[in-house]
Amino acid sequence: MIDRVRPHLVINERLIFEHSSPGKLGYQLPDLDVPAVEPEEALGPENVRAAIEHFPEVSEVEVVRHYARLSTWNYSLNTGMYPLGSCTMKYNPRVNELVAHIEELAWAHPYQPEPLAQGAMEIMARLEAALAEITGMDAVTLQPAAGAHGELTAILMMRAALAKRGNPRKKILIPDSAHGTNPASAAIAGYAVDNIKSSEAGVLDLGALEQIVTGDVAALMVTNPNTLGVFEENIMQAAGILHAKGALLYMDGANMNALMGIARPGDFGVDALHLNLHKTFSTPHGGGGPGAGPVAVKKELEPFLPLPRLKRSAKRWAYDYKRKHSIGRVRAFYGNFGVMVRALAYILAHGGPGLRKVTLDAVLNANYIRKGLEPYYELPYQSPSMHEVVFSDQRQAQKGVHTGDIAKRLIDYGFHPYTVSFPLIVHGALMIEPTETETKRELDRFIEAMTAIAHEVESDPQMVKTAPHGTGTSRVDEVAAARKPVLRWKPA
Ligand SMILES: *Cc1c(COP(=O)(O)O)cnc(C)c1O
Repeated sequence: MIDRVRPHLVINERLIFEHSSPGKLGYQLPDLDVPAVEPEEALGPENVRAAIEHFPEVSEVEVVRHYARLSTWNYSLNTGMYPLGSCTMKYNPRVNELVAHIEELAWAHPYQPEPLAQGAMEIMARLEAALAEITGMDAVTLQPAAGAHGELTAILMMRAALAKRGNPRKKILIPDSAHGTNPASAAIAGYAVDNIKSSEAGVLDLGALEQIVTGDVAALMVTNPNTLGVFEENIMQAAGILHAKGALLYMDGANMNALMGIARPGDFGVDALHLNLHKTFSTPHGGGGPGAGPVAVKKELEPFLPLPRLKRSAKRWAYDYKRKHSIGRVRAFYGNFGVMVRALAYILAHGGPGLRKVTLDAVLNANYIRKGLEPYYELPYQSPSMHEVVFSDQRQAQKGVHTGDIAKRLIDYGFHPYTVSFPLIVHGALMIEPTETETKRELDRFIEAMTAIAHEVESDPQMVKTAPHGTGTSRVDEVAAARKPVLRWKPA
């Protein structure tokens, strides 16, 4: 029997405004021992805010309980497995939080003079070197704030490099399995996007690529392993086809959790890639950041890296702003420093063999789930799975149950849903990424829950279609919630 975890207290918590009753206060101050003055008189009327309509009046214990109860509604990695495919929601060792919170690092000011920031600069330089080593590339910028930002940074650099050669070109090629940020980044950088269909095996079709790469093509953006969790085994040939036509190869490296310590993009022909430090390298994510999307490049693109660059002069680090081919700054200061500290701590704690083990375990865990669920769910692509596995709801759809329903039912079993309906080339996709940090016991719990749901689909499809049943709120109208959000409370 698997443990049934109830991830949160089921309390229908009212809004803080609804706890309000006139005259209640959350604090006590001693009586004034000086004459009272009105705020307008003391601060000037222009500095005094008008009264806030319906401002809640509550006691301290009401505030504390309200927010503590709301916090129990969060599903988190501290509660259980978070199998969101493509997101690499792995457990982040607490020791890296401790390191990032060291006072001198946490309170370092970005405008601290260089001689007083040598330690922070050394951390950034070492992280750049470590990421270059892991990826097999020549140089790294840590500035971009997220994966998508890294993509844009890299495309701007490739554009600058091609322009310097004489022609920035017009098009970027993107496979149909790509993450949505890829075409968005290409478009923002001013490129038209051409889609390439994947082969039967779910990888790049070299024949199709050969035909579509013309003198107009600036680059191919490919995720590897791709969003089907399949390694692009033709990547070196693809690089050859592109390079022969003067085009570049960009790799979306968000899935580096399946490669590090095993294969290096720099060794298989990649010219530029981004990494997601908040996926692979131990920064908690979800809920909006902060993250970091460093970009690693080959020598040819190095002159175009964002400003400033770290430079070792005499016995200390300095920032170099004098680089005439740079695309300029892409973010304030040097990027999200706290995220970099966690990443370096994680990399140094693991070492090369440890990072390799991370990858091997991530791949093992995904394949354990694949084997466990293959009897119950359709596997649209048979190619070997790397760190994630993509099923479809084809069998369940015959009973009118779709991937979104199964995901909602999973909540009743105490799990965060997997990624629903992505990648788009799989109709009704269930995209599952366990990561290396899950134990066999937790993977077994997940497989049992998914198996139980598959049986429920046969015996009682309605039950699955109306899930979740154990939460404070069941289904919400997601379209209305996105299109017509109600953000302002009005008294009944
Ligand atoms: C997460 C992800 C991105 C985007 O990264 P952000 O940090 O969310 O901007 C891009 N590509 C793939 C394959 C991803 O999984």
